[in-house]
Amino acid sequence: MALFVQKYGGTSVGTVDRIEAVADKVRGFKQQGHDVVVAVSAMSGETNRLISLAKDIQSKPNAREMDVLVSTGEQVTIALLCMALEKRGVSARSYTGSQVKILTDSSHTKARIQDIEVSSIKSDLEAGRVVVVAGFQGVDLDGNITTLGRGGSDTTGVALAAALKADECQIYTDVDGVYTTDPRVVSSAKRLEQITFEEMLEMASLGSKVLQIRAVEFAGKYKVPLRVLSSFEEGPGTLITVEGDSTVEKPVISGIAFNRDEAKLTVMGVPDVPGVASKILGPISQANIEVDVIVQNVAADNTTDFTFTVHRNDYDAAEAVLEKVSAELGAREVVGDNQIAKVSIVGVGMRSHAGVASKMFDALAAENINIQMISTSEIKVSVVIAEKYLELAVRSLHTAFDMDVDDSVSE
Ligand code: ASP
Ligand code: MG
Repeated sequence: MALFVQKYGGTSVGTVDRIEAVADKVRGFKQQGHDVVVAVSAMSGETNRLISLAKDIQSKPNAREMDVLVSTGEQVTIALLCMALEKRGVSARSYTGSQVKILTDSSHTKARIQDIEVSSIKSDLEAGRVVVVAGFQGVDLDGNITTLGRGGSDTTGVALAAALKADECQIYTDVDGVYTTDPRVVSSAKRLEQITFEEMLEMASLGSKVLQIRAVEFAGKYKVPLRVLSSFEEGPGTLITVEGDSTVEKPVISGIAFNRDEAKLTVMGVPDVPGVASKILGPISQANIEVDVIVQNVAADNTTDFTFTVHRNDYDAAEAVLEKVSAELGAREVVGDNQIAKVSIVGVGMRSHAGVASKMFDALAAENINIQMISTSEIKVSVVIAEKYLELAVRSLHTAFDMDVDDSVSE
């Protein structure tokens, strides 16, 4: 007998029929003798609908009232799911975030969980009930309703699992797991049996949107085994866990992530003196523009070219800032390109294997793809390339690192 925290996302509870299907699933787990705590999202589209109502009144609505508004989406789902469970003879009880007492700080619309009061949940479980908790919401010390940021129900699920010391936190969603790369780009992409928290964090922050990044961070910190599975079809999904927690030998590279929406800017011919990087990037950060890859190199004439990437939406604003900075610094010129993309290979196996980066560069060279920038971390190598080569790059790397589905084995 195990304790599972199961989180069902918006599409999994998108209609009354789907809520009934979730109730069937939960009943199945109860019948096997498991304890189940469920965290749910709002029905799909509901949070967006609520936000647009607010925006019809005010472009920047008050954040406290925004939380009062958007937290209602999840409150609908918890009640409906409990009704569906009761109808099946499964006794169940719903809780809003503040009824549980999911205590958060007071940063409305992006609150952080500080503590979870588990006593009521535990006594319900002891009484044989299923507990259904509204995702995405909490309460601050003064009793104000707070929300955790878009996609925050994942974090609720993980935090409940950590507080209750659950055996597993299962995230039910509309895909059947985490893939080696986006199957829409590489049709031979494979579902991963297992991936580490660190790898998942890299994949998630690089645009693989299966899980909210904060939820993965939280799960990693508290070592909550996390499983992503489909609520529409049976299957083992993907287990996200600590390194080394596996019986099979891990591949060197677990996945390929990519980001299309990038742009790069270069300040050319900057005098090579202390303080230049800060003079360039200071005004960029004051303009609230996030910088990703940064490369600086010294030329023979004692000037330097300073290049960095930003989100494509920030390209024009960044260019305007740089034109000013460049004049102040006496740099030669500012050049840029907003048709670039970033491709990254991710894998903890990189730590113990040499030659991973050069294998990546070989594969790209074989396709004649020019690498414009390179950056690395312990478990990741990223390259910036022209966007038009993105799909070719991802496909050839997927093959080079032996990640293609083995189609000699028919299913
Ligand atoms: N309903 C919230 C949202 O749409 C939270 C969630 O679904 O995780 O962002
Ligand atoms: Mg979601």
